[in-house]
Amino acid sequence: MPDVLVAGGGPTGLLTAFELERAGLDVLVLERDARPATQSKALGLQPRSVEVLADRGLLAAIEPHVEARLPGGHFSGIPIDYSDLPTPFPYQLGVEQAYVAAAIEARLRTPVQRDAAVTVVEQDAEGVTVTAGGRDYRAGWLVAADGGHSTVRTLLGGAFPGTPARFSLVVADLVLAGNPAGWAKTGTCHPADRGSCYRFRAGGTGWSSPVKSSSGSAGTRPSRPRNYSGG
Ligand SMILES: Cc1cc2nc3c(=O)[nH]c(=O)nc-3n(C[C@H](O)[C@H](O)[C@H](O)COP(=O)(O)OP(=O)(O)OC[C@H]3O[C@@H](n4cnc5c(N)ncnc54)[C@H](O)[C@@H]3O)c2cc1C
Repeated sequence: MPDVLVAGGGPTGLLTAFELERAGLDVLVLERDARPATQSKALGLQPRSVEVLADRGLLAAIEPHVEARLPGGHFSGIPIDYSDLPTPFPYQLGVEQAYVAAAIEARLRTPVQRDAAVTVVEQDAEGVTVTAGGRDYRAGWLVAADGGHSTVRTLLGGAFPGTPARFSLVVADLVLAGNPAGWAKTGTCHPADRGSCYRFRAGGTGWSSPVKSSSGSAGTRPSRPRNYSGG
């Protein structure tokens, strides 16, 4: 029986499991999806996140997938300049969330239990019993890291105070044919990544040019869509 169950194998659940394992606990991550995510999802890591990943020895596995280092970014639409921060990483690291999650998952002692959507949670004085993927799991604690629409939160009747988002953001993994007018390339295509790069519709986000870049190369078409758009 693990000490802790973690519902959700996204970055939050995986890093929580990683930290708890570092502390010597037995942890099992229960993830709804049968396979790891292949879509990019989030594309930018803030400097503090990069510091934490570096401190935990996780950055090396992520580095080969880095596509841009941007001196500026935003938090919830508020522009932020990172370039003067007292950190070895004064930039937003442009890397797909899927690679960050994979790097953390690869370092877990106990493999993630996939195809295991949490559907029932029962608490008692000694711990918690969780039904996931049709099986029952028992542990002392359950961490809910199953995303913004958390099933666990709903099952426990937890509140979600706050206000709805006031702007919309769309991220798509797609292949752009050629070099469409009006789509600035803010990251440089990384030769090792065979032509994938960041593209933002001109005037869309205000993100600026990369601090560091490698010489671009159109390269061959990746096996799955790896060019990005955001507006
Ligand atoms: C369009 C967009 C762009 C973004 N860009 C950035 C960015 O550039 N930088 C940044 O830092 N953040 C960005 N974010 C936010 C970032 O993606 C989230 O903060 C991050 O995914 C949260 O991670 P998480 O692990 O908490 O949740 P999630 O990534 O949502 O992971 C939750 C996991 O729980 C699993 N799950 C769900 N229900 C169950 C269940 N019942 N049982 C078991 N497992 C379950 C899901 O399959 C999933 O794997 C962006 C978000 C969006 C939508």
